[in-house]
Amino acid sequence: MTDQFDVAIVGYGPVGATLANLLVQQGLRVAVLEREGDVYHLARAGHLDAEVMRVLQSIDIADAFEPDTGQTKAMRFVNGDGKLLMEWKRGGERGPNGWVSDYMFYQPTLEGHMRKRLAGAPGFKQFLMHDVYEIESGADGVTVRAEDVVSNKLVSLRARYVVGCDGARSLVRRLIGATHEDLGFKQRWLVVNVNTHTDMGFEPVSTQICDPARPAYAGASGQRLRWEFMVHDGESSREMLRHENIWNLIENSVRPIKRDQGEIIRSAVYTFESLIAKRWRAGRLLIAGDAAHRMPPFLGQGMCAGVRDASNLAWKLAAVLQGRADEALLDTYESERAPHVTAFTRGAIEAGKFVQMSDPTEIAARMKDMQDNPKSFAPPNPHLGPGLSEVNGNNGIGRQFVQPVVNGQRLDDLVGHDFALVARAGFLTGAASPAALAGQWPGLKVVELSPDQAALLDPYAAVAVILRPDRYVHASVADSASLEQALAKLGGLLL
Ligand SMILES: Cc1cc2nc3c(=O)[nH]c(=O)nc-3n(C[C@H](O)[C@H](O)[C@H](O)COP(=O)(O)OP(=O)(O)OC[C@H]3O[C@@H](n4cnc5c(N)ncnc54)[C@H](O)[C@@H]3O)c2cc1C
Repeated sequence: MTDQFDVAIVGYGPVGATLANLLVQQGLRVAVLEREGDVYHLARAGHLDAEVMRVLQSIDIADAFEPDTGQTKAMRFVNGDGKLLMEWKRGGERGPNGWVSDYMFYQPTLEGHMRKRLAGAPGFKQFLMHDVYEIESGADGVTVRAEDVVSNKLVSLRARYVVGCDGARSLVRRLIGATHEDLGFKQRWLVVNVNTHTDMGFEPVSTQICDPARPAYAGASGQRLRWEFMVHDGESSREMLRHENIWNLIENSVRPIKRDQGEIIRSAVYTFESLIAKRWRAGRLLIAGDAAHRMPPFLGQGMCAGVRDASNLAWKLAAVLQGRADEALLDTYESERAPHVTAFTRGAIEAGKFVQMSDPTEIAARMKDMQDNPKSFAPPNPHLGPGLSEVNGNNGIGRQFVQPVVNGQRLDDLVGHDFALVARAGFLTGAASPAALAGQWPGLKVVELSPDQAALLDPYAAVAVILRPDRYVHASVADSASLEQALAKLGGLLL
C-alpha cells in the first residue's frame, strides 16, 4: 500500500490531463495512472473550439498554447468534383468567449502543454507505464492496483474517488457496469497525417468531400496535412494502410499532393462509432471523455466533449471532497453532460451521413437542393441537461456565459474556480453590495460590468447572472430577492 489521494485518474490522455490540472489547482491530491510512457502518438484530434480554450485558460495553458495552433477559416462540404455544397465559416477575430471560435492543433502538442503544467505541481503524482488492472471500491475509499510495465512490480494506492479517463476500451466503465446506447453510426475510416517538405500554401480549411465513390476529408495547418478516407465494406484495413495505396488515394484526391512532396507521419484505420455510456457513475467510480462517449469526428468535437466533462466534474468533485456539497451533486454530472454530448453526437452523425451519402436518389435530391444555392452550416448549441441549474429552454441558462474584459482583466481570470455573480452597474448595493456578499458567501466572486457592457445581460432579461465554476449560467437574477433566494439554494457551494 502506498500513497493516499483524493482522486486517482486512470488514463493520461487529454481528458485525464485536463481533469488533473483542474483538480490540482483546487488543492486536491491527484494521482494519474497511465500505461504508456509518453503522449499517444497516433493521428487524432485536430480541432477545438473557443469553449475548450476557456477551459485551457482556466488551467493556465491557453496563452502559451495559442501560438502553437492554426486558425481554420471554414469547414466546407464539397462534392467529388470539389464544388461547394455547404459552408460553416469559422475562425477570424476573437469572439464573445475571448478566443477565436475554432483552432486547428496537433494533439501531442496540446497534451505536452497539459503535462508541463502539472510537472512538479503540489499534490500531483504521475505513474507512467503503469497498467491499472484492478479497482476495488469500498465505503470509505477505493484501492487501485496497477502493474509497472517496466519492472513488472505491482503497486497499489488509495483514493477517495477514481475517474476513468481511460478511453474507448475503459476498464472503469466496465467496473461501473455501464452498457452503451448506440446512436447507430459505425464506419471504418483511414486517417493519414502527412508533413510536406515545404509550405505549399494550402488554405487553413477543413474540407469534407462528399464523393460517393470515396467519401473523404482534407485538412491543412501549415506543413501539416490530414486526409481521411472512408473504408468500404470488404476492403481490408491492412491493404488500405499500405503506403502505395495511401499515396494513390492522396494523389487522386480533391486536394492532391505528389508523393515526393511530403512524408507520411502517421496512418491508422479507425472505426468511427456513436456510443454514449448509460451510466457514468457508480459510487466512488466515475468516467469521462471517450470512456463515457464516442462520436464520429465530422464536427471535431470528441475531445472537446471530454474536456467539457472534466470542466463539469472537477469543481463538483472538489466541492464534495472539501465538504461543501453532498455526494448527490456528483449525479448531476451525468444528467447535465449526457444530453449535451448526445446533441453533439447526433450533429456529428448528421454531418457524417451527409459526407457518406451513397444512394443515387438521395444524392440527386441533395444536388438539386444545394448545388446552385450553397448553404451555411451551424454546429449544435445545446444547453446542459437537468441537474444543479434550472435549465428551462431558451433563456441561456445552462449555456456558457460570454467572457468580457472587466477592469482590464478577462472574466475567467478574475473568477478562477469559484462561482460568480456578474451584475449590471448599479445593482450591487445594500445587501447585494460586494462587501456584504463577500462576508456571507466567501466562495462567490462578485463582478460588476461597466455601463457599456449592460447588453451582455439582455439575453437573460436580468440584472445579474450567477455563473458556475465551469462558466455555465446557473441562474438569472431579476432583483435582490431572487438573488438572495438563488444564493441560499447554492448554500455550501459558495462557502
Ligand atoms: C481520426 C480522429 C479524429 C479526431 N478529431 C477530433 C477533433 O478534431 N477534435 C476533437 O475534439 N476530437 C477529435 N477526435 C476525438 C479525440 O481524439 C478523442 O475524443 C480524445 O482523444 C479522447 O481523449 P480521452 O482522454 O478521453 O481518451 P484517450 O486519448 O484515448 O486516452 C485514454 C488513455 O488511457 C490510457 N489507459 C487506458 N486504459 C488504461 C489502464 N487500464 N491503465 C492505465 N492507462 C490506461 C490509455 O493508454 C490512454 O493514454 C478524433 C478522433 C479520431 C479517431
